[in-house]
Parts: sequence; C-alpha cells; structure tokens
Amino acid sequence: MKARYQYRFYPTDQQQQSLAQLFGCCRWVWNDALALCKASEKLPGYSKLSAMLTLVKKTEDREWLNGVSSVPLQQSLRYLATAYKNFFDSLTGKRKGKKVGSPRFKKRTNDQSAEFTKAAFSINGETVYLAKIGDIKPIWSRDLPSEPSSVKVLKDCANRYFLSFVVDVEPVQIDAQNQSIGIDLGIKTFAFMSNGEKAESPDYSLLDRKVRKLQRKLARQPKGTRRRDKTRLKIAKLHNRIADKRKDFLHKLSTKIVRENQSIVLEDLNVSGMVKNRKLSRAISLQGWRAFRDLLKAKSEKFGRNFVVINRWEPTSQICSDCGYRWGKLDLKVRTVQCLSCGSIHDRDENAAKNIEKVGTGYRHDSKRT
Ligand SMILES: [Zn+2]
Repeated sequence: MKARYQYRFYPTDQQQQSLAQLFGCCRWVWNDALALCKASEKLPGYSKLSAMLTLVKKTEDREWLNGVSSVPLQQSLRYLATAYKNFFDSLTGKRKGKKVGSPRFKKRTNDQSAEFTKAAFSINGETVYLAKIGDIKPIWSRDLPSEPSSVKVLKDCANRYFLSFVVDVEPVQIDAQNQSIGIDLGIKTFAFMSNGEKAESPDYSLLDRKVRKLQRKLARQPKGTRRRDKTRLKIAKLHNRIADKRKDFLHKLSTKIVRENQSIVLEDLNVSGMVKNRKLSRAISLQGWRAFRDLLKAKSEKFGRNFVVINRWEPTSQICSDCGYRWGKLDLKVRTVQCLSCGSIHDRDENAAKNIEKVGTGYRHDSKRT
C-alpha cells in the first residue's frame, strides 16, 4: 500500500534560488506542453512530449532548462499525461466519482512543486540529496517506514517548504474493541456516534473572521502592488492555519474511530449539492466532511476494517432505533424525540447514528410496524 510521508524543511538562500529556478522550469514545461496539447488535434502522449522536450532543450533560447535536473521536468510531463487521461476517463465515464476538469495552466502565485524519482535523489542518514539542489536536512517528525520510491518538493502559498515521500506501508494489525459504529455527520456537532459519543468541530470563527477582513482589504488594493502581495501572503498563512487545525482534528478523530471499530458506517452525504446552498456552504467546506470520509476509507484499508457508506435516502432520522417505529419526517428544530410505540426518548442525532450503524451492518427494521 502506498502512502505519503511529508516533512518540513528550511532551504538555504542558495537552495531557495535553485528551487525557484527548478519550480519555474517545471511550470514552464507544464504550461508549454499544455498549450501544445490544447493546440493539437490529436493529443500527444508522454513519450512524444518527452521527445519534444529533449529537442527544445537543445535550442539556444531554451538552454536555461539545462540548469536544472531533467528528472522533475520529465515528471511534469508524466503528470500532464495522467491529468489528461483522468480528464478523458472522467468524460467517458470510465473514471467514477467527482468529475475531473481539463488540465489547467500553472501560475507563479500558486503552490509550486517538483518531483524527483530514484535516479535523482538519495537519503544519507539525516540528509536528503536532490540533484542540482544539494543536501537538505528536513525535520524528521517521524521515521520513514520504508525506502521511498520518489520525493516531491513543495512550496506552498505561505512560502513553506516540504519534502513529500512516497513509501510502501504494511497494513496495521490491531484488533478492534467494538464490532461496529454508525456515524452521523452534522454541522454544529461534527460527528455523532452510535455509541453515544460525539465530536465537536474546532472553532474556526476567529480565524475565519480575520480571513474575511483581509479579503475585503485585498479587494481594494490595486493589482501588481507589493502591498497586495503582502495581504495575499497573510491570507494564505491564515488559510494554512485553518487547514492545519482541521487536518489535525480529522486525523485524530478518524484514527480513533478506525482503531476501535471493526465496521465503520457512514451516511453518504450530498456534499456537492449542499455546498451550492450558500448559507451552509462556508460551515460545511470548513468542516471537510469529504476529507473525513476519505480519511476513514484510507485508514480502514490500512487497519483492515470494513468501511460502509449507506445510501443517503435511507430514512435514518425517521425511525426509532429501538423498536423500528417510523414517526416520519422531523423538523430540523426538533432535537429529541419520544417514540410513540415503545416510549423511549432519543437524541435526534444519536438515534440517526444508531440507525446508520444498523443499516450499514445489514440489519433491517420490521417493515410491518412502520
Ligand atoms: Zn420505539
């Protein structure tokens, strides 16, 4: 199983310059090849693009491409070929899931990256050698589980640098304490579990307010000015802080759930439909339900668990989780329900979580009673 292990590093001034040059070349190769693809009637594949790059590098006005390692340049072309493949597979329905757009041009102001394969990097003790960049000492926050097959150098919008290694990881053997768990995702409370536990989402409101204030400021500043660049950087840094906070929360929660339970059942939410609803969109995108689902799925695989997503049309909030009596649709304001049939009192979300667990583990309520 493949995984990414990421480490931060602080390049020297010289390395910053070399990296800027490398990112610039990768970007140029990507954009140039993309322009060529867009202009061609028949899409050139990787080998054709690669051959063209070799020719271009021999011309006098593109000689500067030889100043950087050729491996990341080739990788950019590979990524472009993959991006096109995903795009066409998505168009023809060969690729399931969210629609993939056509590849886009890269901008200087976005995140920058360059990938080195085995031939162009090596690890010697604490240091990582990158071809034509030199020795880098990342902060080894955890050990690499195995020999990496490639490494990506990243620079984000807030000018932070990372090395991201692709490694093979073994599935983890830990027995689950519980058979199964159902999870109901919400807005105010992030997750309700069928065992009665709940997870409140972190409070982003202060950071969020700061971002909005700066965005208003940015809108007033003329394009191309230093002041505007500064504001942009500040916004990027705040976004990073929000993203880090969210990532940390989602990672901890998903690890806990997957460690403790053998079957994990989640309701399929119409996330893309909900984001269109303006009022909810901010809160929902901040909370990252989709990211949470992806994490649960990936970790379930790692820990050998069953991950089940149930149909979102299951009436999980309309049924008593004790006796199966169906009380019908509830107004969103109603937080607790007393079942008319068995008399038990339920918290709305906990009841839904219990029903999600039941549906996901194959249990059906007796339909005669409804
Ligand atoms: Zn009941």
